[in-house]
Amino acid sequence: MTARIIDGFGFAADLRARVAAGAAAFAAAAGRVPGLAVVLVGEDPASQVYVRSKGKATHEAGMAGTEHRLPADTDQATLLALVHRLNADPAVDGILVQLPLPPQIDAQAVIAAIDPDKDVDGFHPVNVGRLGVGLPGFVPCTPLGCLLLLKAELTDLAGREAVVIGRSNIVGKPMAQLLLAESCTVTIAHSRTRDLPGVVRRADIVVAAVGRPEMVRGDWLRPGAIVIDVGINRVPAAEPGKTRLVGDVAFAEALPIAAAITPVPRGVGPMTIAVLLRNTLVSACRREGVPPPAGL
Ligand code: NDP
Repeated sequence: MTARIIDGFGFAADLRARVAAGAAAFAAAAGRVPGLAVVLVGEDPASQVYVRSKGKATHEAGMAGTEHRLPADTDQATLLALVHRLNADPAVDGILVQLPLPPQIDAQAVIAAIDPDKDVDGFHPVNVGRLGVGLPGFVPCTPLGCLLLLKAELTDLAGREAVVIGRSNIVGKPMAQLLLAESCTVTIAHSRTRDLPGVVRRADIVVAAVGRPEMVRGDWLRPGAIVIDVGINRVPAAEPGKTRLVGDVAFAEALPIAAAITPVPRGVGPMTIAVLLRNTLVSACRREGVPPPAGL
């Protein structure tokens, strides 16, 4: 058996095209385009790249993207004042504060200040709670992207054994909640889990969100498992001085064992921004009482 490669890049491009069509329909109905405000504090190089690509994707989807760049020494009160302004701005449907924030700022307090109905990242405690009790809200973009890929592979997730490796608030925990809502039998593994290979071996679905290059080995996988690799790790390449990206799963080892697997890059990564755009459109539709496009 050779695993099917799950084309996250192509799936994300298709989702972005559907969001763009939905944004055009929204604009025709509401008389304005959906708006996403992205806030960046400081000059972290990776965050700058993410913010730039989010801005570009927002415009490509026919939405208004505004960037708010604040210096690294910004104090909490200034950042909170900006968040409150964006909460009150009727042209803003989604607010995203790029993490990590500088140490003088309490990230949880900033997230809690965002209007939960504009929290398109799904990190606000109200949205975390909504996900837990099954109410409509916003779900963090990366795990929702993983779920969309899984649902494209498996029409029915009910009853499957799912193992999520990683318990972060951004990926692992919401991923587990989403799989539970799909009636999977969910195990959340983490750095204190005993016999991780044994735990992973019982999974029909493995979601690896650890941040350790190629930690999950091929012989940890049950034959026929579906593997979603969230990890993005930069490692030295064969060519001196060069680097390459690898996931949390030893891809070449997994290929002959898994039924399907996301590659790194071009797997889960592109889904995150596509889902962010989707969440922004959904927010705009909810706020204006416009029905969101079917199947989004
Ligand atoms: P965190 O560092 O917040 O969480 C990592 C999790 O992995 C923790 O729960 C940790 O356990 C667990 N862990 C660490 N070491 C081990 C181990 N040896 N065995 C089992 N579990 C372990 O990372 P994130 O969730 O933010 O991100 C995970 C990965 O996903 C990273 O590579 C990141 O770059 C990538 N990522 C990709 C995104 C995308 O594709 N767009 C978006 C977000 C993240 P414990 O809690 O016990 O410490």
